[in-house]
Amino acid sequence: MAMTNPECEQFSLVLSQLLEKQMQEDDQLLQVFNQHLREALQESRSRNTFALVTSAENVSEAIKQKDNELAFANLKTQELHENLQKAIEARDAWQSIAMEKMEMVADLQVTLQNMVTHDAPCFSSTLPQSEEVKVGESTCARPFLPCKLCRYLSACMVFLPCRHLCVCKLCDISVSACPVCNAEKVQSIEVLLSN
Ligand SMILES: [Zn+2]
Ligand SMILES: [Zn+2]
Repeated sequence: MAMTNPECEQFSLVLSQLLEKQMQEDDQLLQVFNQHLREALQESRSRNTFALVTSAENVSEAIKQKDNELAFANLKTQELHENLQKAIEARDAWQSIAMEKMEMVADLQVTLQNMVTHDAPCFSSTLPQSEEVKVGESTCARPFLPCKLCRYLSACMVFLPCRHLCVCKLCDISVSACPVCNAEKVQSIEVLLSN
């Protein structure tokens, strides 16, 4: 059945109105869909951002902790290094003291040897040699070295480091410097002479 011209126009008008309405509905639908999509994206983005920030904070905290541990380890290493250095210095000091003492002992041995053979300088310059001296009730044939302080008992203590054989055992207790050369008494040793 063929449509007349006015009918055709009417149909065309209705069709275009329907299309227009459909397009509007589609448009609204699209807008709603877009809105939902945008919201979903935004939510997802903020969730990701939060996760990223939290993760970054954790990493930063871990780095900070490791930094602290490293600083502590460095401090300990430095302390150990200083202690080692001190120990080395102490060892060197002791070594030099030991060397000094050994030299002193060697010197002392020479001095004693000289003294026994009556040619020690300090001995011969200050004291009579091989003189028979009466000390208290006993008479000794050995050279009598009067104590430089009490002048009564025999000098039998050698002072170190000056090595002067100068005082008796009793005076040794009360004296802190050598009465011959005035050097500080670091140590004193009793000399035992064999006849
Ligand atoms: Zn004395
Ligand atoms: Zn002395």
